[in-house]
Amino acid sequence: MKFTNLTRRIEIGANSYYLEAGGHRLVLDSGMHPKFQGDEALPNLNALSGRRLDAIIISHSHQDHIGTLPVLMLRQPKARVFMTDATAAIGSVLLHNSVNVMTRQREETGLTLYPLFIHRGVDRAAELWQSCALRQTYTLSGERVPADSNETTFEFFDAGHVLGSTGVLLRTEGRTLFYTGDVNFDDQTIAQSAMFPEEKIDILMMECTRGDTPVPPTWSRAGEEKRFSQSLLEAFERGGCVLIPVFALGKTQEVLAMLHKLRREKTLDFPIYIGGLSSKISEIYDRRAQLGRRQLPRLQLLDELRPFVLNAETIHDAQTRPGRVYALSSGMMTPKTLSNIFAQRVVDQARHSIFFVGYADPESPAGILRNARPDEQVTLDADGSLQRVRCHIEQFQFSAHASRESLIAFAERLSPKKVLLVHGDPLAVEWMRARLATDLPNSEIVVPTPGMELEL
Ligand SMILES: [Zn+2]
Ligand SMILES: [Zn+2]
Repeated sequence: MKFTNLTRRIEIGANSYYLEAGGHRLVLDSGMHPKFQGDEALPNLNALSGRRLDAIIISHSHQDHIGTLPVLMLRQPKARVFMTDATAAIGSVLLHNSVNVMTRQREETGLTLYPLFIHRGVDRAAELWQSCALRQTYTLSGERVPADSNETTFEFFDAGHVLGSTGVLLRTEGRTLFYTGDVNFDDQTIAQSAMFPEEKIDILMMECTRGDTPVPPTWSRAGEEKRFSQSLLEAFERGGCVLIPVFALGKTQEVLAMLHKLRREKTLDFPIYIGGLSSKISEIYDRRAQLGRRQLPRLQLLDELRPFVLNAETIHDAQTRPGRVYALSSGMMTPKTLSNIFAQRVVDQARHSIFFVGYADPESPAGILRNARPDEQVTLDADGSLQRVRCHIEQFQFSAHASRESLIAFAERLSPKKVLLVHGDPLAVEWMRARLATDLPNSEIVVPTPGMELEL
């Protein structure tokens, strides 16, 4: 079995991994880098040159896993593309939105490479996707077969991260490889914890997003929710609004569900604003509420919470109204996104608040702001001005990713012959490597060097 890490660096980056096994060639995930533009935003697809793929398997529809799929499909017209039904529904919405974002970026920066694909390209690509059910075995040509088939097969497992998210089990050459994708082993407000295989796995390929963040010993989700509602109350008492930068997929719906619980418990009731993309994805959550494993299956987010919807035009006139929550994407407050534009109106006003509820790259505007000291000067957009941080900033731990402790526990339970550590920044990956090297002395722990072919 041959393996090449197609990310450009050891980082969270643009996920994509090449595998050659059982006479087949396939790629797991085809992400877009959240921080870079142009070629740098793509996985290292040149490493595939001259190789014809049989299959592309997508773990879930976050931008860093599906964002460049239309580009890869154009280069690999013969490859079959597999994902869950929910991932397909969300992926198409997300990629259409990405066309709009890239078109705007081209206008602003003159980047002639952009957009990397157009709306018609997304529609054409989406027509070719094959939706696969969880816990069913498929061949790489998309046929359902028994799990003990001699062919090279794959099977999706619920990853508990966002709607449609999966881990992927490959069976080939009498061996098994399991890719966790992005996973959560704990329940969230909507998503239920992952249901991963407990069978013998030879090679485990594991995400490391939270590898450098220990969970405080006193942390509990219920306790964190309580602190969150108390902080909202205090923020409103200060006479300001609360901005919560969130990913359009996953974190928006989790925050809406949490706010619904506060309303139901009559703790707090207030108007909520979300972005257009978040609203479209929430619609998909609502449509599919009763279809899979989740909590609060009867909750219809848009009907119950009736959020006001802001978009790329209306955000420019949106007021910072006191007593309101603005749960806007992007989660990293990338320049020109709703959360970034709105944050510039909030950041130097002492009565307003920004609550961080999930992961943000430390170099992203959200990362910079969450680490800023009071009164420090920050620039949230290179085209904007320096601003003094006067608003109230708070952080909450509602990650959609597994804690490093639960990842280690999972790896120890499976005790695979090899562990490949991916999807983490260098410090995170190194912590995981060192810990697993001690805890699993009989396993080979590998951090795959980007672009280097490995024999597994
Ligand atoms: Zn994800
Ligand atoms: Zn990810």
